[in-house]
Amino acid sequence: MANHLRVPKSNLPRVVIVGGGFGGLRLAKKLAKRNFQVVVLDKNNYHAFPPLLYQVATAGLDASSIATPFRKIFEGQKNITFRMAEVLEVQTESNRVITNVGDLDYHYLVIATGSTTNFFGMQDVQAHSMPMKSIPESLDLRSMLLQNFEKAVNLDHRSDEQESLIDMVVIGGGPTGLEMAGALAELRNHVLPDDYSEIDFGQMDIYLVEMGSRLLPPMSEVASAKAKEFLEEMGVVVWLNTALVSYDGYKAVFNNGKTILTTCLIYAAGVAGCVPSGFAQELIVRGRRLPVDAKLRVRGHNNIFAIGDVCAFAPVEGKPPLPMVAPVAIQMGSYLANYFEAGAPDNFPGFSYHDKGSMATIGKHRAVVDMHRWKTQGVFAWFIWMFVHLMSLVGFGSRVLVLLTWGQSYLSSDKRFRLIIRPFKKK
Ligand SMILES: Cc1cc2nc3c(=O)[nH]c(=O)nc-3n(C[C@H](O)[C@H](O)[C@H](O)COP(=O)(O)OP(=O)(O)OC[C@H]3O[C@@H](n4cnc5c(N)ncnc54)[C@H](O)[C@@H]3O)c2cc1C
Repeated sequence: MANHLRVPKSNLPRVVIVGGGFGGLRLAKKLAKRNFQVVVLDKNNYHAFPPLLYQVATAGLDASSIATPFRKIFEGQKNITFRMAEVLEVQTESNRVITNVGDLDYHYLVIATGSTTNFFGMQDVQAHSMPMKSIPESLDLRSMLLQNFEKAVNLDHRSDEQESLIDMVVIGGGPTGLEMAGALAELRNHVLPDDYSEIDFGQMDIYLVEMGSRLLPPMSEVASAKAKEFLEEMGVVVWLNTALVSYDGYKAVFNNGKTILTTCLIYAAGVAGCVPSGFAQELIVRGRRLPVDAKLRVRGHNNIFAIGDVCAFAPVEGKPPLPMVAPVAIQMGSYLANYFEAGAPDNFPGFSYHDKGSMATIGKHRAVVDMHRWKTQGVFAWFIWMFVHLMSLVGFGSRVLVLLTWGQSYLSSDKRFRLIIRPFKKK
């Protein structure tokens, strides 16, 4: 007999939201106290804040300061039910989702499952590199970095084996790759030499490799150039127009004919939507995303919606879809709440995205910010970056924790979470 998820009995129409990330959470919060029974399903019991994952991976923040339990977030919201459940399949004909802990029927289904790393079929890279899309992955990376230094300290200076443990390669010149490379440089320049005084950190190389002709491709040329300048000032070697060809866990080979010996290759170059099974394969478009209409309905389905990274919404027919960034997911969540609340009428205006700009930080005191025509780089941009990220965290407690940690590391140039709590073992 099928195992049903136990949710409270209700006569209200049931909205099932799969994924409590930026999009799903915004939608659920906006439907609080409205005439819907909202069921949020997430495979984790917490909402995570991916833009600060790189700080967890580089020992600058504790994982718990960028994650909030769903049960805390939805405390006191009578029409919202949370279940920790991974959706395995959507049965579109019978309006039912199948999860690892039981199945559940819906009136409206919202797919807000976000995205995962896209290795573009490079199986060797997938097997050996370190992705950084989730809290467990960033904790693995933190453990691995520190374990490498613990091993390197026992090896001959400048031996290939030692260099392969301390040299690091970041693939992908988008905000994640750039922020990661900057944070690694800070570790090397200010923190690790005190911990491992036997290692010659003059020998430690950090590479940032980008296939395109500039860093931060979606941002302005001035932001790209300044970001590269900032990284190089910090001692990061930036390779543009360079693609990773293969990686066996020790040797990374590039299309410029060069090789780098490294056991730590961080892959931040591609994303693909997390589409649960049950949708026709021919429906899924480039980047493994679900195409939606102006009301964010998955093509061919009247009561199934997709928001955030997993959905491909092109504001202009035939043009590229909106990027996989947090503001898109949040605005889609808000839109859908308004649409449901209005009774999902046919004449409801379609979704439109208001782009407020983008930003990236490169270590202490350095950031680049593009806000339409207004662009700034350097210390002021860094303050804007900090303020925006702090205010975007969910919950007052997280904001206070992050602010205090940032304050402490600003004053001491320290990154205090250099802990191998869960040792990383390569599969
Ligand atoms: C390292 C990193 C840095 C980033 N930096 C920035 C930045 O600076 N600025 C910016 O705008 N964007 C940034 N992004 C992108 C941004 O995080 C995403 O665009 C945003 O999170 C998308 O929101 P979402 O709601 O679509 O998905 P997510 O926020 O990814 O949420 C998806 C949720 O779905 C759950 N889930 C997935 N599959 C299932 C399933 N089968 N069953 C149940 N639950 C499931 C997950 O556990 C997760 O909670 C960054 C992303 C990463 C990885």
